[in-house]
Amino acid sequence: MTGNDGMGRRAFVAAGTAALAGMALTGREASSAAEPGRKRGRAASRLILLGTGGGPIPRPNRSAPATAIVVGDATWIVDCGNGVARQMALAGLPLGSIRGICITHHHSDHNADYGTLLLLAWTGGLDARVDTYGPPPLAEMTRQFLAMSDTDIRARMAEAGRPPLAPLIAPHEIGGAGADTVIEVAAREEAGVRITAVRVEHPPLATALAYRFDCPDRSIVISGDTRPSAALVELARGADVLVHEVMHVPALEALIARAPSPRALREHLLASHTTTEQVGKLATEAGVGTLVLSHLVPGGPPVLADEVWRDAVRPHFAGELVVGRDLLEL
Ligand SMILES: [Zn+2]
Ligand SMILES: [Zn+2]
Repeated sequence: MTGNDGMGRRAFVAAGTAALAGMALTGREASSAAEPGRKRGRAASRLILLGTGGGPIPRPNRSAPATAIVVGDATWIVDCGNGVARQMALAGLPLGSIRGICITHHHSDHNADYGTLLLLAWTGGLDARVDTYGPPPLAEMTRQFLAMSDTDIRARMAEAGRPPLAPLIAPHEIGGAGADTVIEVAAREEAGVRITAVRVEHPPLATALAYRFDCPDRSIVISGDTRPSAALVELARGADVLVHEVMHVPALEALIARAPSPRALREHLLASHTTTEQVGKLATEAGVGTLVLSHLVPGGPPVLADEVWRDAVRPHFAGELVVGRDLLEL
């Protein structure tokens, strides 16, 4: 399912399978004014930051990048950093509720547990189809992971009567061809959730994607890794919530200075990521209601206080500003 339909068009990755009609709001959902962008009376979506630390090295204080969006009884996972299944358990999200996985790009802090999440969910009783989306070679990665795990899969089919795993996974490669920034991904829309993707800028990777989820009650955009991106600003235009990567350059100075080539490292970071000032400005330009900082770099150590992040972004964005932390629900 690879497509590229030219500039100016957006299309839809897929949609949740939740049966939204008649879904009751809980008291908390109906009464909360603190949940960004929520339109009262609509079926409530849940946004849960599973992992908020940028970069592949495990840290004591922040898990690797992963975000959950839940509508009804369907869970969508954006990025599968190491430990995503454990973070879902800590968040109280059933692994069997996963209906879709969206990978933003193939850096290990975003995809290391892609296959592992599917395998563990299947072990735990997943029996519905999971559509997965991401840049090439997602389909081949899926195939190779299943081959690597073949012994375990066969054993559990024999021991526990599990159905084969491979038929439950439907990988879709997106953003693989052409240079357009707006990518037609697919044209399937089901009840409840509409998902859109655009290509963002994260060199040296050829393809990195941002995703927008239009849920019944609000719109949520997740940037993935990117330097300031015009396509991202367009995708996020008027969104209720923008979850965006961010790096605090002053806090990185010591790390940059210790690098073998400080100048090259600085240039790479600025060419591939977004500073605190830039993220505030682009959120303002896009007109989003709430800006959520995630994929924090440095994710620690050193650990930066929330106020440090907030103070660096606040001069550039007047809306609601949230410094992300693991397991925060919005
Ligand atoms: Zn990253
Ligand atoms: Zn990256």
